[in-house]
Amino acid sequence: MPCSRCGEETSGPDHQSLQDCFDFLRLSLTQLNVYVARAELEAEAARRRADALMALLQQIADVARPEVEPAALPALVRRIRKLALGQVSPPGEAERRVRR
Ligand SMILES: [Zn+2]
Repeated sequence: MPCSRCGEETSGPDHQSLQDCFDFLRLSLTQLNVYVARAELEAEAARRRADALMALLQQIADVARPEVEPAALPALVRRIRKLALGQVSPPGEAERRVRR
């Protein structure tokens, strides 16, 4: 049931004091900040995956040029496989793997 004063969910009746309301609101704010931080991390991870994919696409485009030697292909296929298996880019690792 929401507290009639602050609107936060309570396990029973309203919070006993205004101080309690503030404490709960602060807690909610902290949880919200954690949520936002996590969402930002996830967005960053998604951005890194997208970057890795774009780098791969660029490599594929490069390999598709007729003058490129065929030896470049197996490494590229390995990276595509890794990417498809989701073994790429926990935050901070993307760049290192891209350069490999
Ligand atoms: Zn309250």
